[in-house]
Amino acid sequence: MKFCNHCGGPLVERIPDGGNRVRFVCTNCHAVHYQNPRIVAGCLPVWEDQVLLCRRAIAPRKGLWTLPAGFMENGETMVQAAIRETEEEACARVSGIQLYTLFDLPHINQVYVFFRAELTDLAFSAGVESLEVALFREAAIPWSTMAFPTVSRTLECFFADRKTQVFPVRNELTPPLVTSPTCTS
Ligand SMILES: [Zn+2]
Repeated sequence: MKFCNHCGGPLVERIPDGGNRVRFVCTNCHAVHYQNPRIVAGCLPVWEDQVLLCRRAIAPRKGLWTLPAGFMENGETMVQAAIRETEEEACARVSGIQLYTLFDLPHINQVYVFFRAELTDLAFSAGVESLEVALFREAAIPWSTMAFPTVSRTLECFFADRKTQVFPVRNELTPPLVTSPTCTS
C-alpha cells in the first residue's frame, strides 16, 4: 500500500496514536489502514461414498485438484460464501451444511473454513474457474496433485471420521504436508 484510499495521500508505516503495532497511516487525512486476515470458505460436497473435487483453471496451483472454496465477500455469511463458491466453481448445489475444518494460516494471513455438505443432485459441471469437476472415491483421490494442504487435510479427516460417522470440528494450525508433498509453490 502506497496511497490512502480515502484521499489519495501518501501512506507511511508508523504506530498510530494509542496503538501498539505498525500500521499504514495517511500523512494527509491521518486515516489508519488496518490489514487483517482474510477468510476462505468452502465445501466438502459428498455424494454417497464419493466426494466432489474441482481441478483449478486459474492460478495459483492451476491444474491441481481442490475443494470448491474462495474468499468471503462483504455482506455474506460464511455458509453463504461456501455455498456460493460451490455454485461458482462446480455449478453444484448442496444441503445439510456442517462446519468441519478450520485452519489458521498466520504465515499468509488467511483462515480456511470448510463445511461438510451433501450434493443435492448430480447436475454439476465445471464453472469458469474450474477445468473439470468430478466425484472421487477415497481410493481414487489424486493426492499427489492436490492444490492446497488444507484441502488434503480436510479430506484425510473426512475419510478417517467417516469410519465412525463422527465428524468433530477440527481447528488446526498451518496443516503439515502429510499426504500432499507436491505443492509447487
Ligand atoms: Zn488519507
